[in-house]
Amino acid sequence: MNSVAISACQISASIGNHLILQGVDLQLPAGRWTSIVGPNGAGKSTLLKVLAGLLPGASVQGEVQLLGRPLAQIPARERARQFAWLGQNEGSADDLSSYDVAMLGRLPHQAWLASPSAADHAAVEQALRTTQAWDWRHRPLSQLSGGERQRVLLARALAVQAQVLLMDEPLANLDPPHQTDWLHTMRALVDAGGTVVSVLHEVSLALQADNMVVMAAGRVLHQGACDAPDTHAALEQVFDHRIHVRHLDGMWMALPSIHRHNKTREIDA
Ligand code: ADP
Ligand code: MG
Repeated sequence: MNSVAISACQISASIGNHLILQGVDLQLPAGRWTSIVGPNGAGKSTLLKVLAGLLPGASVQGEVQLLGRPLAQIPARERARQFAWLGQNEGSADDLSSYDVAMLGRLPHQAWLASPSAADHAAVEQALRTTQAWDWRHRPLSQLSGGERQRVLLARALAVQAQVLLMDEPLANLDPPHQTDWLHTMRALVDAGGTVVSVLHEVSLALQADNMVVMAAGRVLHQGACDAPDTHAALEQVFDHRIHVRHLDGMWMALPSIHRHNKTREIDA
C-alpha cells in the first residue's frame, strides 16, 4: 500500500509568541509504522498534536490532511474514530477501573448516553488482553504501577480500533519484555492495514519501524526508511554522533559511542 495516510504541508505552530514548529512538510504512508525521533524539545509532541488536530487552530499554520481530506473539514466525532491517541504523561480518571478506562476508547463509537454494545465490550476485552492488562481490569488505575498503567492506556487507544494510531512515548515505564510485546502489537496492526505513528526515545526500537522522521529545533531534518543509510546518518548527526547505528542480529540498533576522553575521565575518577 503506497497511499498517504497523513500529510502535513508547511506546518508552523506557536504557543504564545514562541515558535515551536517551522515549515514542517510530512507524508506518512498508510499501512506503515513511522517513528519520530529527535532530542528533547525538538517539537515531536507538538507535531503529533498538530497531526491529530489537538492544538487550537489559531496557533497552527499550514494544512494537515487525513487520507486526502483536510483535517479541519472532518467533524470532531469522526476524527475521534479515525485517530487513536496516547499522549505523553497522560493523566486519566484515576478512580475508574482499568476496564472503564479502556471503555473510554469506545466513546466515539457510542450514541449519546447509550450503554456499551456487545461490539464495544468485545473491543475492550481484546485490547486489554493484547496489552496483558485483562487480569487487573477491575482495579482502579490509581493502584497500578507506572508500566501497568501505561498498558491500560495503550489498551484504551487500541480499543478505538482507529485507522491511525498516534502515540507519544508509549514505552515510558514499560519493562523490556513488554516493550517487545508492544513492538509485536505495532507490527500486527500495520500488517492488518493500520497506520502507526510513534514518538520514541528508545532509538533502537524506533529503528524497528518502517519509516523514520528525524526532528531538531522545530524542523524535520530527514524522513526516510529505517533501513536506509541516509536515515542512519541523519540519526547519528541529530544526536551529535553520540550514537552509532549498527546492524546486529539482523536488526538495526543504535549503540552509544564511547569516546576516548570519557575513558580518561573514568580512569581519573
Ligand atoms: P519534544 O516532544 O520534542 O520534547 P515539545 O513539542 O514538547 O518537544 O516542545 C517543543 C518546544 O516547545 C520546547 O522548547 C518546549 O519548551 C516548548 N513548549 C512546549 N509546550 C509549550 C507550552 N505549552 N508553552 C510554551 N512552550 C512550550
Ligand atoms: Mg515530547
